[in-house]
Amino acid sequence: MFSWPARDASAEEVLRWGVSEFGDRLAITTSFQATGMVILDMAACITGGDVQVFTLDTGRLHEQTYELIERVRRRYGIVVEMVTPDHRELSSMLRLHGPMLFKDAASKRKLCCEIRKVRPLERKLASLDAWVTGLRRSQGGGRNEVDTVSLDEEHGGIMKLAPLAHWTEKRVWDYIRRNDVPVHPLYSKGYPSIGCEPCTRAVKPGEPPRAGRWWWEGDDDKECGIHVSPSGEVRRDFDVLLEEVLPTPPRPVDFESKA
Ligand code: SF4
Repeated sequence: MFSWPARDASAEEVLRWGVSEFGDRLAITTSFQATGMVILDMAACITGGDVQVFTLDTGRLHEQTYELIERVRRRYGIVVEMVTPDHRELSSMLRLHGPMLFKDAASKRKLCCEIRKVRPLERKLASLDAWVTGLRRSQGGGRNEVDTVSLDEEHGGIMKLAPLAHWTEKRVWDYIRRNDVPVHPLYSKGYPSIGCEPCTRAVKPGEPPRAGRWWWEGDDDKECGIHVSPSGEVRRDFDVLLEEVLPTPPRPVDFESKA
């Protein structure tokens, strides 16, 4: 059994603790946004680049994201594992619903996220004892309670590290400027949040940051449709669609934390 880092441990101390406790059973996951780049920079300083890093390559990322991955590889000497969707799940989904299914209905958008992001992440985490994320409390969207170190019950009880949990956005950008950390070029084009290319856009002045995600969905559409069958069974559109693609029972998933 290991000892946990002190509650007031700094981000560097938390990362150093994770690397020393879990070694190659720990991995950093990043989508190469600002917080992820700070963590990569710190981890490279601590390990000399000898740290496991992965990203969810949905197949629909911005070209600029792939270019940034190349910069990370060259600058830090870090090997970035591209975790991809299961090709049978992906081809089944595309055959049934087409490549632009996410524009059809919120339930199909959630199906696409399940196949391209949620399931690949679950498969990757099943091989680990600890993972590192860039979650911060001040990001909102249910992240107010994020702990620096916690047990991740949703993913088999492995350790979940969020070294920047208590950092403000200003502190993130101060670190980036001070250490000349590479940043995603879409920030300078008005993108506050950068995900898949067809599902992310720049926001206008005054719009909330997440307005640039799935902007075609109304607030009511953000949830899957609920249906009650003649037998009284409650079904969500998303569950039915998932069964069409894969005959496995879907699990409850927190999509906001994975977006
Ligand atoms: Fe699919 Fe869009 Fe989700 Fe990416 S963000 S997985 S393209 S629905």
